Amino acid sequence: MIPYENLKTLNHPFEEQLKNKFALFLDKGWYILGAEVALFEREFADYHQEKYVVGVANGLDALILSLQCCGFKRGDEVIVPSNTYIATILSIIHCGLVPVLVEPDSSTYNIDPKAILQSLTEKTVAIMVVHLYGQCCEMDPIMEIAVHHQLKVIEDCAQAHGAKYKNKLAGTFGDFGAFSFYPTKNLGALGDAGAIICKSETDYLKLKQLRNYGSEKKYHNGVIGYNSRLDELQASFLRIKLPHLDEINRHKRKLASVYNAYLNDSFIKPREDTDFYSVYHIYNILHPERDKLKHYLLENNIVTEIHYPVAPQDQPALKGYLTGYDYPISAKIHQRTLSLPCSFIHTEDEIFHVIEILNKF
Ligand SMILES: *Cc1c(COP(=O)(O)O)cnc(C)c1O
Repeated sequence: MIPYENLKTLNHPFEEQLKNKFALFLDKGWYILGAEVALFEREFADYHQEKYVVGVANGLDALILSLQCCGFKRGDEVIVPSNTYIATILSIIHCGLVPVLVEPDSSTYNIDPKAILQSLTEKTVAIMVVHLYGQCCEMDPIMEIAVHHQLKVIEDCAQAHGAKYKNKLAGTFGDFGAFSFYPTKNLGALGDAGAIICKSETDYLKLKQLRNYGSEKKYHNGVIGYNSRLDELQASFLRIKLPHLDEINRHKRKLASVYNAYLNDSFIKPREDTDFYSVYHIYNILHPERDKLKHYLLENNIVTEIHYPVAPQDQPALKGYLTGYDYPISAKIHQRTLSLPCSFIHTEDEIFHVIEILNKF
């Protein structure tokens, strides 16, 4: 059996270090916003050659707090891709803003910069891009639009830790880079966790306030805040794994390159382009008989996933919240996409086996 992912196996190489960290944590007895959170923020900032990082509770909150930091008015519009995980769109709705869905480019699956222009109105205040599957969006034209129209840019980097566009890291293009460290992500905690990269000291101080009840000083609350602190224990675990992020990404890229080289042409493979350093959070293919293919692989003891089976526009929760109805490119991707095993736990031999089975379909 080749699993899609196995979190216990994934974290096995770090077990001794994790146990030692937990022993220190117990010994110290400091549970909330301690030295480990501050050190992880510093180290995650250094990794990105940035100055400001604020640790938060999870990826959804990283998006919500970034939007709240901008101080938009109720009813303002935020551009967001139609082809994304629902969390991106939920963050906009939770802030009383209007998500304006924009179709992806059918070869990258990421938001189509040309389509953004057609969706701008006087109410547009921000573009929330998603670097889906670990591949960066085309940030040059997107930043050009944002600068020209004075829009804020928030990057959903939940699937793109260490991904690059023209040699620049995901999360360092816009005003805010929002990360999730959900256990399955390329940099995964052993529970929920998230972080935000921001560009100014003003935003940095405001985000620190927002994550902690709006308080800048204990029991003094300047703004309507949240309880969304990065957990001290998760921060200490993330500090163990961060130095291995590049190694994890290189491994996933190696597996992806094997798929790209040997899978036959009946499957549509991710586009490779020298401008993009993809970290393959998800290695997906497109196939017109996706469900049959998934079933066939399972019969051959290969577990796959679908990211995602239901498009945002078809989610009952979003009824009444979207300004349009018809997103054919996103719909077509959702009908055909299949995610293949491509984890740090997999060996090249396992990938060759998956390819052999796939090529016989
Ligand atoms: C995982 C994910 C999120 C949400 O992260 P959580 O930590 O689970 O809140 C947001 N956006 C995308 C694209 C994701 O993949």
